[in-house]
Amino acid sequence: MAKFRFRALEELLKREPVKVEFPSNKVSDYFGINVFSLETMQRFLSKDAFKNVKQAIDTGKRIDRTIADQVANSMKEWAISRGATHYTHWFHPLNDATAEKHDAFFEIDSNGKSFEAFSGELLAQQEPDASSFPHGGIRNTFEARGYTAWDPSSPAFVIDKTLCIPTIFISYTGETLDYKAPLLKSLHVLDKAAVRVCKYFNKDVTKVISTLGWEQEYFLIDEALYNARPDLALTNRTLMGHSSAKDQQLDDHYFSSIPLRVLEYMKEFEIEAHKLGIPVKTRHNEVAPNQFECAPIFEEANLANDHNQLLMDLMHKVAKRHKFKVLFHEKPYAGINGSGKHNNWSMATDTGVNLMKPGKKPEANFQFLTFLINTVKAVKDNSDILRASIMSAGNQHRLGANEAPPAIISVFLGKELSKMLNELEERVSNKKMTADEKTALKLDIGKIPEILLDNTDRNRTSPFAFTGNRFEFRAVGSAGNCGGPMTVLNTAVADRLTKFANELDELIAKGIKKDEAIFQILRNYITDSKSVRFEGNGYSNEWIKEAKGRGLSNITSPPEAFKEYLSEKTIELFKQNKVLTKRELESRYEIKIEEFAKKIQIESRVLGDLSMNHIIPTAIDYQKRLIDSVNGLKNIFSEEEYQELSARRKDVIRKIAHHTTSISKKVQAMTGERKKANKISDYVKKVDAYYANVSPFLEDIRYHIDKLELIVDNELWPLPKYRELLF
Ligand code: ADP
Ligand code: MG
Repeated sequence: MAKFRFRALEELLKREPVKVEFPSNKVSDYFGINVFSLETMQRFLSKDAFKNVKQAIDTGKRIDRTIADQVANSMKEWAISRGATHYTHWFHPLNDATAEKHDAFFEIDSNGKSFEAFSGELLAQQEPDASSFPHGGIRNTFEARGYTAWDPSSPAFVIDKTLCIPTIFISYTGETLDYKAPLLKSLHVLDKAAVRVCKYFNKDVTKVISTLGWEQEYFLIDEALYNARPDLALTNRTLMGHSSAKDQQLDDHYFSSIPLRVLEYMKEFEIEAHKLGIPVKTRHNEVAPNQFECAPIFEEANLANDHNQLLMDLMHKVAKRHKFKVLFHEKPYAGINGSGKHNNWSMATDTGVNLMKPGKKPEANFQFLTFLINTVKAVKDNSDILRASIMSAGNQHRLGANEAPPAIISVFLGKELSKMLNELEERVSNKKMTADEKTALKLDIGKIPEILLDNTDRNRTSPFAFTGNRFEFRAVGSAGNCGGPMTVLNTAVADRLTKFANELDELIAKGIKKDEAIFQILRNYITDSKSVRFEGNGYSNEWIKEAKGRGLSNITSPPEAFKEYLSEKTIELFKQNKVLTKRELESRYEIKIEEFAKKIQIESRVLGDLSMNHIIPTAIDYQKRLIDSVNGLKNIFSEEEYQELSARRKDVIRKIAHHTTSISKKVQAMTGERKKANKISDYVKKVDAYYANVSPFLEDIRYHIDKLELIVDNELWPLPKYRELLF
């Protein structure tokens, strides 16, 4: 068995970097060449058609059929010129992957002559055989059809000879079955609500978009090592492995070759990303060995999310050529840093203002504060559903581990802004302010940009941190689709902004001056949301205690966290804002818990298999050698010498017996719990059983295996060790 491990290590030593050439010295020469961008579209379409499409993108207006035909035709012409032979609707089903089904452009006419065709109808809507995508009970088997519908706000692109058209994915009965459709709806309500609030400050604003800049963390591992670890290959994380003492043999070999291989890999996926219009800009090593990060320039949130999903696909594809595997799992290795996907989020107006950036003039700052405080309040009021949106089987291991934010949702603002909010709270009351008081307050607000410039303090332990011109939602896991958390955040903020505007209109109707009314409402919001603001160390145990005292929830159990999808508050929030119906929320909840139970089930099976077929036989093999050697000693040495010489060996024999017996007993018990859980037909109870009764065995069994790893002869150990996986 151990031969697989050593063969993998040998292969590793032979690896050479795969040299990658840049298509040109300047990225701008090839940036976006595989995208049917607005610019390209303008070249291909008639003036009218282009105007119609542009309008559809800006306002969400429907594109009429004749225009759609024109667009389809030009899209096809362009795609063929880029080497495409097929087309596909490209969508984000609820399973952390993207889906596609390819059709050829070519058709045959009644005379048997072949030609290339693509119509507006095919562009606008398709009916993929999608019964295998998660639907959470929405699609009954007799009506398993799903529809994909074109999202003109995200441009089509060509990958590997296929034209990909971003689409939403809905059921026959109209319920959404993907991440994109609710995200688009949430962006729409946020636009409406934010424009309404902007108008109190600047009448010229007619559109607000949400911006997203994600930072994608990932691990790389050599393909051969990955294949020698069935747990990684089947569950994307290591279910066993003793932490590595550094400086093992072979290390220096790795050090010299790996960074170069990685660099060539990064170069290649970045080139491919740039061709697809993904503005990847930053790359760097992360804290953990073999962990890296890449980040683009931020974009409109829907496009940014498409680009994130696309890039993750691309990274997998390109990795093959470099003989790497990319791990997006949030915690592939115990004891070292996990991977997140920080979502940098803000809102921007069509007048060119970033609403999370303090401006130069007091009025602009007043607007900034309004949006900031509304956001803090939205996060406070919706922290449970925000947590639910980022929770997963993988992320549960990362959250609250000592290098990632805990499952307590809090907001970091920085010293100066916090002071500002505290002052606002103190100085504003329901009594009429004097003109002097108002001027003084406005003057102070006007000073924000200066104080922020000097005080760019960062708190990397906060799950939701203000970073000077945006919020950074750091609790998001690396494997997930940003569409989930972004939909919740956008909806929560939109909801709050609408309520803010309603309250404001009411006060104004009562005769209170606008500015004063705004101050009063903001003051109340500051008071209401105070408990969610935390400036200290989010990783500390003190914070867990303090948060409890403040009444903040800290739900570490995924099945518990997911229940928030069904709370009345959540249902009301999404219904009011027309983003998700109760039925859709129920289906999303079902998908989440089903997926969670399945993942634990798979992990538990894999661990059971590896324990019984790899680890125990290896340990027994070694134990037998020890027993033979102890017996051998007896024949050679005197009784006294024998006792002394065999004592340690006997001790090891005993330890192996203890660990192997514990493992097999526990595997048996775990299998029993799994069987019990599988018999439960109620899915909620089933997932609870998996979490409470099956998953604790994973840690338990691992403990004994990791002990054995330290005892058993290295030559016999079947699985690549942490020091080998992590270089
Ligand atoms: P850091 O590691 O310091 O957090 P990075 O440069 O790695 O910073 O990532 C910051 C991300 O935030 C980038 O993707 C950047 O484009 C994005 N960003 C900057 N401004 C905004 C904004 N207004 N809205 C959304 N994202 C933004
Ligand atoms: Mg960051």
